[in-house]
Amino acid sequence: MKKPTARKTTTARPTKTAPRKTKSHHKYIFVVGGVMSGVGKGIASSSIGTLLHAKGFDVNLAKVDPYLNVDAGTMNPTEHGEVFVLNSGLETDQDMGNYERFLNRDLLHEDYITSGMVYKHVIDKERNLGFEGKCVEAVPHIRDEIVGRFEHAAKLNKSEISIIEIGGTVGDYQNIMFIEAARVLKIKHPDDVIFIMVSYLPIPSKIGEMKSRPTQNAVHQLASYGVSTDIIIARSEAPVDQKRKEKIGIACNIPEENVISAPDIDSVYDVPLNFERDKLGDIILKSLKLEKRKGEGLGAWKKFAQSVKNTERELNIAIVGKYFNTGDFVLTDAYVSVLEAVKYSAYSQKVKAKIHTVNARDFEVKNPDFSVLDSFDGILVPGGFGEKGIEGKLNVIHYARENKIPYFGLCYGMQLMTIEYARNVLGLEGAQTAEINPKAPHLIIDIMPDQKKKLEEKDYGGSMRLGAYTAKLKKGTIAHEAYAANSVLERHRHRYEVNPNYIEQIEAAGLVFSGTSPDGTLMEIAELPRSVHPFFLGTQFHPEFLARPLRPHPLFTEFIKAAKGKRKK
Ligand code: GLN
Repeated sequence: MKKPTARKTTTARPTKTAPRKTKSHHKYIFVVGGVMSGVGKGIASSSIGTLLHAKGFDVNLAKVDPYLNVDAGTMNPTEHGEVFVLNSGLETDQDMGNYERFLNRDLLHEDYITSGMVYKHVIDKERNLGFEGKCVEAVPHIRDEIVGRFEHAAKLNKSEISIIEIGGTVGDYQNIMFIEAARVLKIKHPDDVIFIMVSYLPIPSKIGEMKSRPTQNAVHQLASYGVSTDIIIARSEAPVDQKRKEKIGIACNIPEENVISAPDIDSVYDVPLNFERDKLGDIILKSLKLEKRKGEGLGAWKKFAQSVKNTERELNIAIVGKYFNTGDFVLTDAYVSVLEAVKYSAYSQKVKAKIHTVNARDFEVKNPDFSVLDSFDGILVPGGFGEKGIEGKLNVIHYARENKIPYFGLCYGMQLMTIEYARNVLGLEGAQTAEINPKAPHLIIDIMPDQKKKLEEKDYGGSMRLGAYTAKLKKGTIAHEAYAANSVLERHRHRYEVNPNYIEQIEAAGLVFSGTSPDGTLMEIAELPRSVHPFFLGTQFHPEFLARPLRPHPLFTEFIKAAKGKRKK
């Protein structure tokens, strides 16, 4: 590997715009989970990123997922949560969305690694005689491939610190090879690698006392892999008291101040601020032997976290979907970016968005009760696949259009609003998408030509139209006004498109395609003029992937503004 070129040392005083950066080796922070899953490792990793960035360090965040899927694209959202798409088109875990939102920057393809990706690469190489007759094994070949990927991502990011979250919990079989790779990096660079364990301290109700034993066990288990824990983020219902900090410190071989209390809180956006209060940033810098700098601070983040608490009133926003129910529980994980995007725009307009999950199938029955929809200030139909709930969604869209309820359709939500328009305004009976019935009389939404072949060949993995593409915007439309730009780059994930044979007819009937691909062939945004409807707009792309706390998405903001206006009428 080429060595990074040494930066020139300078005696000049640092200016405000260019903070002084002392030359040091690249640093790695590995975040592992102890005790159990679901305690907020992703938010903890993201918050560490926010904190170190505020302290003037260039950081990149990366995630390793231990499963054998090559990417997250083929997984069922009800079970695995949202599939988050990067600019590159890689389909990843929803944590990558948190990273981008907390860091306010786009992540690279190389910032996401799965076991499947690594094994596939190594096995393909073996099949091509890439190992010159050697016996290929998990150690060293898989492990070293992982080490190489960590280093490669750090180099491409040109960052100073990589924060790498290792999916799963210490003690899983699946993530051992990633922990082993991190251990090897630590041997290679003893001063430049630290391990942070995000653990859980239960307070059993019958005992009434916070228990630290499971955390101690997790730290000992990690030690049995040859890895010592440097910092413990102690998640719990309540703050960790001094007595337990001392106890954990002694049992786990770390200074007690390296035990960070992370009690449950109402707003995840407060996590970086709480970490800062416990001096986590400075403890990390000390552990990595980095000198403090004057960064831009947490001012902007604080302002945002405050806006969450300073809302004037509540808006009722319905998300009409189908990936909500798992057993007896209703989870909104499948739509996390959509929910976040709605919230950021709402906070920017000083309102709180109360989200209502609406099951599309409730509107498929005979004589559905539409009156419930009147109580919503805005209705959103997010992306989706397949037939379930489609007629229900079409009925909801029809009602929203006729009753002037602000409507926002994302991907499938845009395709369906176009079908609804064709059916009920153009009178095209049987208007449909080829995804449901390729023999329907009017295929308003059809398969994209290059996708047809892929489906015939059963080439499903990572084969949709994925990632960032440019859309040009039509002047005088809501989209053009909202973006205040002539073109935009947005992320996609779809196989079907508005059928070019129907575009003229649909536009003549009043629906405006306000965004198209640069060559004008692919419809990217559909909308009704404001004179006809306060907000009836859909996008073929997924704007939710680019909404950030410090940069709410303009189309979501327009939707919220229209929703705010609804009750005034
Ligand atoms: N199922 C539709 C398509 O493939 C929409 C996809 C989506 O909503 N992400 O085009």
